Amino acid sequence: MDCIFCKIIKKEIPAAPILENDQLIAVKDINPQAPVHILIIPKKHYATLLDCKDKMLFGEMLSMANEVAKKLGVHEKGFRLAINTNHEGGQTVLHLHIHLLAGRPLSGVLG
Ligand code: 5GP
Ligand code: ZN
Repeated sequence: MDCIFCKIIKKEIPAAPILENDQLIAVKDINPQAPVHILIIPKKHYATLLDCKDKMLFGEMLSMANEVAKKLGVHEKGFRLAINTNHEGGQTVLHLHIHLLAGRPLSGVLG
């Protein structure tokens, strides 16, 4: 499959993981929108949030977001998670992922 995140997961594209387990990988975004911008990506390919029915996996994704925030030391000041879904949601890579943003005050659509 011609999916950039599947290539990262298969290590066909190098991307030093921040954290990794059997189900998930967390990597730095190539085009960071904040001093800390991490992507939490399931190893199984789901095009969008709508395509994943695995409630356990949703929990695992949020759990890894907490772990990443703590590992990078941004948990106390705070961070934001986002899942862009489909075109108007701003999704550009059709492989489910959570954005973790931190390291500056986050203003914008959500204030
Ligand atoms: P989306 O717009 O789909 O919510 O987010 C996709 C994100 O993937 C973007 O923030 C973009 O910068 C990031 N991205 C695209 N290609 C690559 C890549 O090859 N490596 C990494 N680490 N991030 C990527
Ligand atoms: Zn994929």
